[in-house]
Amino acid sequence: MIGAGLAGLSAAVRLASAGQQVVVHELARHAGGRCRSYFEPALGLTIDNGNHLLLSGNHAAISFLKTIGAEHKLAGPSEATFSFADLASGERWQLRLNNGRLPWWIFSKARRVPRTQPRDYLALLGLLIAGADHSVGEVIACKGALYQRLCRPILLAALNAEPPTASARLAGAIVRESLARGGAACRPLIAADGLAAAFVDPALAYLRGRRAVVRFDHQLRRLDLAQDRVRALHFAEDVIELAHNDVVILAVPAWIAPTLVPELTAPKQFRAILNAHFAIPPPPGLPSMLGVINATTEWLFAFADRLSVTVSAADRFNDAAREPLAHSIWREVAALTGLNGKMPRWQIVKERRATFAALPGENARRPGARTRWRNLILAGDWTATGLPATIEGSIRSGNRAAEVVTTTQFC
Ligand SMILES: Cc1cc2nc3c(=O)[nH]c(=O)nc-3n(C[C@H](O)[C@H](O)[C@H](O)COP(=O)(O)OP(=O)(O)OC[C@H]3O[C@@H](n4cnc5c(N)ncnc54)[C@H](O)[C@@H]3O)c2cc1C
Repeated sequence: MIGAGLAGLSAAVRLASAGQQVVVHELARHAGGRCRSYFEPALGLTIDNGNHLLLSGNHAAISFLKTIGAEHKLAGPSEATFSFADLASGERWQLRLNNGRLPWWIFSKARRVPRTQPRDYLALLGLLIAGADHSVGEVIACKGALYQRLCRPILLAALNAEPPTASARLAGAIVRESLARGGAACRPLIAADGLAAAFVDPALAYLRGRRAVVRFDHQLRRLDLAQDRVRALHFAEDVIELAHNDVVILAVPAWIAPTLVPELTAPKQFRAILNAHFAIPPPPGLPSMLGVINATTEWLFAFADRLSVTVSAADRFNDAAREPLAHSIWREVAALTGLNGKMPRWQIVKERRATFAALPGENARRPGARTRWRNLILAGDWTATGLPATIEGSIRSGNRAAEVVTTTQFC
């Protein structure tokens, strides 16, 4: 296994549980990749590299957590309830989906988005049958109350791309796996004690308990590729010759894989995600997650020891000065929470290549798990999972890679 992000870890867990001998080689000194926790000195707190939201319908992620004994690490409400605020008008509302597949919540004024009508929601059906070349803007009207108050916030967060130009196919996958399956699939879930405590540390413990070896600080520099198979792995200080029944799963990010595998087609464009963290406990009554419109703040997360803001497709802030940005986001947080006083200790974390850009053209560049080298399998959120770059997608890609390994005769 090359790479100990969630794709690599999920493949490793599947294979180790099937009794295969697994060795994971990871460039960094820690596992988790883009889904990790670390101690942030500016805050004096352990935080996640970014706030990560899952839904109760993310079945691969939940079954991964069950396998590694960490399902209880995800917390969320018992019903699919989402709180929203409009910073411009001061309005607040709750979207409350009913559990069953029949969406009667859209007929209830108290449950649907204010200023929308039940018929507005029919437009979302178009996304379910969208063509591969279509953008969201070609399929639904990117204006009006339903778009501004529901479609834009949800699609922007899930696709990490401005919806009008984003892939309608990937937007359709989100609708199919969430809203179309009813509230039972849409309960928002958060790793309240951090991503490492839920996804990473228990996975490493599970692997170690099954004789798997995890080597950190061990960057793959080159693959020795023969006609139809990988012959050897070249690291900075050692070379591993592969036996005939050895298989390599390459679970590195999209911008690394093409540097290791010639002629590989992979997404080339990426989008940033920005998180602003403030070391202050939430005031009583603040929902654990608040969607915000008409603001830079898109989602406000309330953890026990901090408030944390997420901004998706945040490339416009890549070169922005950090302190003025922190102040302007804090002013929004103060208005949303009623907190006043000076800005608490803060940190801005910009992940410049958080995900591949979920555009139709980039989605078309995602390869499947198999390659023309029979013992080289690909995994990662950027491979052809049918989903945008998400935890669920990366874990499904890892599961798929493991399935290819266990169902193929390699020698
Ligand atoms: C800020 C942020 C917020 C996000 N929010 C959400 C969210 O709310 N919900 C959601 O579902 N998803 C979210 N995501 C996306 C999610 O984190 C990713 O889709 C997922 O973590 C990708 O996992 P991966 O294993 O495919 O890739 P990665 O996590 O990138 O793992 C690849 C691993 O390969 C290693 N590596 C690279 N090169 C080499 C080499 N040469 N040799 C050995 N190892 C190598 C890397 O160090 C890394 O550990 C977010 C991502 C970010 C960055």
